[in-house]
Order: sequence, then structure tokens, then C-alpha cells
Amino acid sequence: MQTATGQPLRIVVIGAGFAGLTAAKSLARLPVALTVIDQRNHHLFQPLLYQVATAGLSPADIATPIRGLFSGRRNVRIMLGAVRSIDTGTRTVLADDHQIPYDILIVATGARHAYFGHDDWEPHAPGLKQIEDATAIRRRILLAFEHAESAEDADHRRRLLTFVVIGAGPTGVELAGAIAELARVALAKDFQTIDPRDARIILIEAGEHVLPAFPPSLSAKAKAALLALGVELRTGVAVTGCSEQGVVLGDEFIAAATVVWAAGVMASPAARWLGAAHDRAGRVIVESDLTPPGHPEIFVIGDTAAASGADGRPLPGLAPVAKQQGAYVAQTMRARLAGHSTPPFRYHHAGSLATIGRGHAVADFGWVRLSGRLAWLLWGLVHIAFLIGFRNRIAVLLDWLWAYVTFKRGARLITFGPARPQG
Ligand SMILES: Cc1cc2nc3c(=O)[nH]c(=O)nc-3n(C[C@H](O)[C@H](O)[C@H](O)COP(=O)(O)OP(=O)(O)OC[C@H]3O[C@@H](n4cnc5c(N)ncnc54)[C@H](O)[C@@H]3O)c2cc1C
Repeated sequence: MQTATGQPLRIVVIGAGFAGLTAAKSLARLPVALTVIDQRNHHLFQPLLYQVATAGLSPADIATPIRGLFSGRRNVRIMLGAVRSIDTGTRTVLADDHQIPYDILIVATGARHAYFGHDDWEPHAPGLKQIEDATAIRRRILLAFEHAESAEDADHRRRLLTFVVIGAGPTGVELAGAIAELARVALAKDFQTIDPRDARIILIEAGEHVLPAFPPSLSAKAKAALLALGVELRTGVAVTGCSEQGVVLGDEFIAAATVVWAAGVMASPAARWLGAAHDRAGRVIVESDLTPPGHPEIFVIGDTAAASGADGRPLPGLAPVAKQQGAYVAQTMRARLAGHSTPPFRYHHAGSLATIGRGHAVADFGWVRLSGRLAWLLWGLVHIAFLIGFRNRIAVLLDWLWAYVTFKRGARLITFGPARPQG
């Protein structure tokens, strides 16, 4: 597969998340010159990040070195670098100080949490997207218990033992359930002065229900499971303020030392790089073949693309959407190179899952809805199956079995960055 000049076709993939990696793995088998650029050296399995944040898994269990995934592929170049801009005229990507020319470009740079105009909340209510976010949240949670153990003032101790999660989508629900279990079970007998079971875990949701994207029956099941774990729910109320001291909900102030943001995301700046039209979440508006209008040589996929489903509604930011889009782009490239055309992209939704602590989950497959232990087992199997790399699958399975049998968490490390934070 060559260009008019006889050179192999240069395909550049930006981002080795679910979308970019799926495309790159398939394209690597073609006789093309493939470059994969990522600002991280690892692919990250984000659906299990909350378990790193709550000391259930170690970072390496859910991350896989990108270079290792293409080991031995002489036609693939892996580049560690952050893309800053794209010149669609000269067909060049600028990553750090390097200019990388392309014939075909695949942009799959994902999304990051967004604070809806309240960026000043971020230091007080960090979100969960990268390994560093997860280890920073883990540090906050574990330090809160340590500092509460030595706190002499009752109000200060109460504030340290209050944990607030903002946003009750799957990430918020899973985080709140995991923090509750950490406090009620894993840490329960490890302190002398405090009883970690006294911790308050408060889950705040502006909408009326937890897991708003799930059917009401499963949302109600999730609510019951959270209440059984001792999570306090505040639904139908939006956070109006967030500071080092805690959060404000209308007239109410909740003093809390640990606040986690799980309430919204914004796409990467790909629309700006491409000078392309975007939706309110910053996602590049793409045609049914996942290219922005007027640029058949550029594909935008995954969380950074605003593509429509069969019903005309925008597709959600989910791993299966990203993976299917990655596979579609590779299929389209194969077809194009063979002189064929491909039908428009169609997303096939297999189902939605969310887990609430040990032994409970909800699963919506459309034709069947499950909750409880069976859904939880299914949730575990699906996550093990979709993890990248055999080592990670085994590591996560063993960690989960260990935690299930012993009620312990294996990754209770408080790690500090270069500057050790003060309590
Ligand atoms: C905490 C959390 C939990 C989730 N849980 C679920 C779940 O249970 N089920 C589900 O289906 N989905 C879940 N999701 C959503 C899912 O992870 C995303 O939809 C999916 O990761 C999108 O894939 P992507 O390839 O578009 O982006 P990503 O997977 O985010 O990958 C983007 C890649 O681009 C790289 N990148 C970004 N900017 C640049 C740049 N400027 N230069 C170079 N590289 C760059 C990043 O380093 C990253 O490797 C969750 C997300 C989060 C954050």
C-alpha cells in the first residue's frame, strides 16, 4: 500500500486509548508506515481506575506499555509526546518539538473531566482520568484516615472522616461504594483512636436518580445497594460551591476533607487543532464515516468525536463505542486501499454495567436486566476479559480473589510526589 511517490502510506494515530489502540493494532498488520503518538507510555484501562483510587488494585494492574503491544512490528513507530497542533494544510502533526507528516490521520485523544465553568474547584475536587489522578485520590483518602487518627478536635476529625463524591453516574457510584467498603470493612480494625466505620460517604447527584442512564428499576436497585453500604445519597441537588473546607449544596454546607469529582467530561482540544466544528462538550462533529466534513484523510474517534447513533442521538463516551470506532476505521482503511467503500459506522450496544461494592452490580442488556451477585460476577468477567494483556488479567483476578477471601485491600500505599503535602 503505497502513495503516488512509491512510499508506504503514512498513517498517524494520536492517542493509544481504547479507540486509537484498537485501530492501530489492526492497521499494524497492513503494509503501511504507522506512527502511534501518545503523551503517556501506557494504555490505561480507565473503567478500573476507581479501584486504584480506593486501594483495591495497583496502577500497573490496569496499565500496559504501548511499545510492548507493538513489539517486533518494524512498520510501527511508537512516539512518546504530547500533540500541540495539527496543520491540515501541510498534513503535519506537531508533537512536542517534532513534526510528523501523515497521509491518513486518526485522532483519538479522549476527554478529561470538566467543571462546567468552575475550574477553581479542581484542586479541591479532583477528577479521575489518569493513573496520577487515582494515586492522588488514594493518597487523600488514606491520609484522611491517618490524620483523623491523630486529630484532637472532634469537628476536625468529623471533617476528615467525611468523603464526598460528586456525580452519581457509574464512576461516582462505583467510587462511593468502594470508599464505603474501604471504611466499613478493609480498614475497620486497623485504627486505635477512630472507628473507620464512622466515616460518612456522601454521593451527590444533580439529577433525580443515581445511574441516570440506566432503567429506573436498576437505578432503584443501585440506590438500595448504596444505602445498604451506608452511603448517604443527595439527589436532585447541585453543588454550588467547593473549597478546601468542603462543598456547598444550596443552603447546606458539608465539611469534608476529601471530595472527588465524577460529574462531567470535556473532549480533548482536537476540534481546535483541526479547526473543526464541535458540540458543547468540545467533541469534533464527524460524518457517518467518522471523518470531519471536508477531510476524508482524517478520522476522529472515541471520546473526542461527536458521532450519531442510528436514532440520530449522540453516542455516549464509552469504551465499547471507542473500540468499535477504532475497528471501523481500520476496516475502512482496508476497504479504501482495496478500492472499495464501507457502509456508515453503526454502533452496536451490547449492554451497560455498574458495580456497587463487593457482590453487587447492575447490568442492562436491553433484552434482560440483572442485579445482585450474578450481575457482579458478569461485571468481573467482562472487565477481566477486556483488560489489555495476559499479565494484567491474572494480576487483577488474583487481587480480586485475595480481596474477596480476606476482605483486605492490597494497594494501601500513601505515595507522595516530589513535594510532600502537609496534612
Ligand atoms: C474513571 C472512568 C471510568 C470509566 N468507566 C467506564 C466503564 O465502566 N465502561 C465504559 O464503557 N466506559 C467507561 N469509561 C469511559 C471510557 O474509559 C472512555 O469512553 C474511553 O476511554 C474512550 O476511549 P478513547 O480512546 O476515546 O480515549 P482514552 O481512552 O481516554 O484515550 C485517549 C488517549 O489519548 C492520549 N492523549 C490525550 N491527549 C493527547 C495529546 N495531546 N497528545 C498525545 N496523546 C494524547 C491519552 O494519553 C490517552 O492514551 C470510564 C472513564 C473514566 C475516566
